[in-house]
Amino acid sequence: MAFTVLCLTVVRWVPVVFVVLLFVWSTYAYIVQMCLYMVTDLVERIFYIVIFSVLLFMCIWCFIKAIFTPTAGVPFQYFLTADEKDQAEKGKAECKEVVENKGIKLRVQGRTVRGCVRFCEACQCIKPDRTHHCSNCQKCVLKMDHHCPWINNCVCYSNYKFFFLFLMYSFLFCLFIAATSCQYFVKFWTMDLSIEGYGKFNILFLFFVSIMFTISLLTLHSYHSYLITVNRTTLESLRAPVFRSGPDKNAYNRGCRKNFIEVFGRSPLLWLLPVFTE
Ligand SMILES: [Zn+2]
Ligand SMILES: [Zn+2]
Repeated sequence: MAFTVLCLTVVRWVPVVFVVLLFVWSTYAYIVQMCLYMVTDLVERIFYIVIFSVLLFMCIWCFIKAIFTPTAGVPFQYFLTADEKDQAEKGKAECKEVVENKGIKLRVQGRTVRGCVRFCEACQCIKPDRTHHCSNCQKCVLKMDHHCPWINNCVCYSNYKFFFLFLMYSFLFCLFIAATSCQYFVKFWTMDLSIEGYGKFNILFLFFVSIMFTISLLTLHSYHSYLITVNRTTLESLRAPVFRSGPDKNAYNRGCRKNFIEVFGRSPLLWLLPVFTE
């Protein structure tokens, strides 16, 4: 059993390690193989290295914050007490009375498709609105967006801003690499070769990989930009939250500006930094 858990833990970190190795390799290929060996103009070389370093730093900062920010758990008052658990076990009705009463007292609005207060059997707690149980994290997570294997963490209330900024800076990082390595990539096809073999392979891959990630990150970033403007999580966009009155996918939409502030905070100075804002 312990061995299985250990294997599972190792497997879950594989995508994160892959991303880290990609950053390490791209830094080597860009700075050493491209900027130092191929770029001959000093001003151009310095400009490339500075912009690359700034974008890389922002990517890593957001990546670390997205990975290591603890997932937002359910407050203690939503958990059943020992007495309440006893009562819940005795009840046979679909909507357990003790859960219903506690849910109404806690003013939860969300309901199951059958109209009951949402309850997590695994955690033995009432689910606050927008909360979902994550089977990977083995807990209920507030404003859960999805469980992301690339950060080995849930994207949720506590780290959504960091995840979004990671997408944004990674997109800019890849776009910058693609745009600046393009001319050196073209040189290989026009046979104006200044380096051979190994270096050629690095520049070739650098260009292709950055183009591939630019396109996929742009798609993902655009999708999450849209979700922020309508105040919807990925899970809610797949299945609308249910209330007494029925499903309503626009339930949390408070207008574009307020929705934006809910994720990024009120201070424009902190919008582009991966620091928590309320
Ligand atoms: Zn749960
Ligand atoms: Zn999770």
